[in-house]
Amino acid sequence: MNKMTKTLLGAAICAILATSGCSSNRVENFDKVNDQYTAAISWMQNSTEYRALCYQAFNAAYAHLKQVASIKRKKNAKPLAVVMDLDETVLSNTRAFVAMVRNSKSFNDYSAALQEWQSKGKPEIIPGAQQFIKQVNNLGIKLFFVTNRTCDSIGNTESILQIEGISYDNPIFCRATVLDKSPRFVTITDAYDVAAYIGDQVTDFPTLTNDMGSATNLDRGSPAASQMGINYFILPNPVYGAWLKKVHPDYFSLSPDGAQKAMRNSIKP
Ligand SMILES: [Mg+2]
Repeated sequence: MNKMTKTLLGAAICAILATSGCSSNRVENFDKVNDQYTAAISWMQNSTEYRALCYQAFNAAYAHLKQVASIKRKKNAKPLAVVMDLDETVLSNTRAFVAMVRNSKSFNDYSAALQEWQSKGKPEIIPGAQQFIKQVNNLGIKLFFVTNRTCDSIGNTESILQIEGISYDNPIFCRATVLDKSPRFVTITDAYDVAAYIGDQVTDFPTLTNDMGSATNLDRGSPAASQMGINYFILPNPVYGAWLKKVHPDYFSLSPDGAQKAMRNSIKP
C-alpha cells in the first residue's frame, strides 16, 4: 500500500475511508464514494477512445523524438533523454481499482487490497507504451522512469517490466522521501537534455501545476500550455489525480458524503 497510498488516489481514498466504519450507514457512504470512480474505471477499461488517446500521445511523442534525434547535436551537448512516469503511463492499475470498488468496505480493506496488489499484482501495460519504449531505445535515447512508487517496494515493479519485455538502462527514480518529483527531474536534467516528459498527472511535468494561483496553470494560458504535445505528452486518467483538489481544496479529508457533495458541486451548469 505504501507506494499507492501516497499517490493522490491513495490520499483521496484514504482520507475518505478513514471516516467510514462497519455500520450499514457507513458502508452505504463508502459505496457512494466508490460510485464516483466506477464510471471512470469503466471508461479506461472499455472505451476505444481511451486507447486512442494513449496511442495519440505516444505517437506524437515518438514523432517529436525522431525529429529531435535527427538534428545534429553540438559536440559538448548533453545526451538526449526521455522521462516517463509509470502508473497509468506505462502500468495500468485499473484491476486494482476494480477490486477496491467491489470489495473494500473500509479503509483497512482497501489498504490490504492495495498492499497485495503492490507486492504481487500484475499491472497491464498501457496501450502503446511498450512499442513507444522500444522506439525510444531504437533511437538511442536514454529512458528514465520517475515514479512515486516507493523505493523499498520497487522490486515487483522491476519484475513486471522485465516480464513485459520493457528494457531500460537506468535505475528507476523511485520515491525515497518526498512526493515532489522536481529534485529527481533536476538530477536527470543536470546530465541529460530531456527531450520529452510523459505522464498522466501534472506533477509528472516540471512546469505544470493544478494550483489555480500559479502562473503555470494551463487555464491561464501560461507558457506551459505551449509545451503540451511539443515536449510534454499527457495520458488520460479520469480516476485520480491532483484535479481532485480543484473539486474541493480539502477533498482528501472530506467525509464520503462531503466528497460526493463536493463532486456534484464542482460541475458547472
Ligand atoms: Mg502516474
